[in-house]
Amino acid sequence: MSVIAAVMPAPRVPVELREFPEPSLEPGSVLLDTLYSEICGTDVHLWHGRLAGVPYPIIPGHVSVGVARKIHGAVRGVDGRAIAEGDRLVFFDVHRTCGRCRACTVTRTPTRCEARRVYGITDPAGEGLFGGWAEAIYLEPGVSIASLPSSVPPETYISGGCGLITAVHIVDRAALTLGDTVLVQGVGAVGLSTIALARLAGASRVVAFGAPADRLSLARKMGADLVADITTTTAEERRSLVADATDGLGVDVAIEAAGSAKAVEEALPLVRDGGRYVVAGHYTDAGTSAINVHHHINRKHLDIRGCWGSEVGHFVRALRLLERHHASIPWHAIGSRTYDLSELNQALADAEAMRVPKALVRPRSGFSRT
Ligand SMILES: [Zn+2]
Ligand SMILES: [Zn+2]
Repeated sequence: MSVIAAVMPAPRVPVELREFPEPSLEPGSVLLDTLYSEICGTDVHLWHGRLAGVPYPIIPGHVSVGVARKIHGAVRGVDGRAIAEGDRLVFFDVHRTCGRCRACTVTRTPTRCEARRVYGITDPAGEGLFGGWAEAIYLEPGVSIASLPSSVPPETYISGGCGLITAVHIVDRAALTLGDTVLVQGVGAVGLSTIALARLAGASRVVAFGAPADRLSLARKMGADLVADITTTTAEERRSLVADATDGLGVDVAIEAAGSAKAVEEALPLVRDGGRYVVAGHYTDAGTSAINVHHHINRKHLDIRGCWGSEVGHFVRALRLLERHHASIPWHAIGSRTYDLSELNQALADAEAMRVPKALVRPRSGFSRT
């Protein structure tokens, strides 16, 4: 049986459907029938050719959920339990992290391991079904697999998606403590999940800056106390909002999830002396920020941290958080529209124009082979 996949041939070239042979399974591998994958900001960057080292053509779709169709040999999930055919599975999209290089062992920054690959981003389509925009996904030996908790709908998992996993890492990097005041810049999928997790981590007040209006109303539902639309307010008005919310002190923690050089310039004066700023949205080069180092870093005694990618532990903890909180936190509302494989150029255009916070892909539904 063959498998239909949507392939991104090159930057700015329309996505096209191609037929792939069903892969022969190596021992320890799984063939997953895809239930859902996603289209996030990273996919728009891929389409624009703004990520380095992408081996086009690729099958995009990094975070995905599916059902195990075939398993070769004994495969265990990250919890040590055996995986069986028919199980609803999720997997960590980063694979082949080597565990031996300087990044993996000396500096303990495995998200900077040069051997690592990411499904849907740095795996070439020429090597097979390594992306979620396909009827099936090949989970090669060594991929970190987990069962989707039975209470969590697959739609909810994928609506949280990569943004939720990234947000777990961000909140770790932010070292949030009970009662902290938090500013989140950006209300895309990463910012929205970060708002929710900041609340879970004990933030006393969460302020969110972003646009458009429908995402800001979702930001409130995710737990933001105050929101400001960056298209209808001035930087000075937003500064006043933060000052009023923090007794003039500035926030304890600011988190950049906007991917904007201007956002960095705006945030630094809004963080209190000795506070923390986590930069997570500059996944591509968004240009240079003008910073007065004396005023905004050195004298302020500021702690600025980058946040690159995520590790298996963030993925596993995201699953636990979904299991515990999926009914009370509206992750399901982030994935507002579902597309089939033949509609992905439209999906990319909608994501690019910010008409949807996150577009979902349902490869095996509503799509007929011709
Ligand atoms: Zn390594
Ligand atoms: Zn993503």
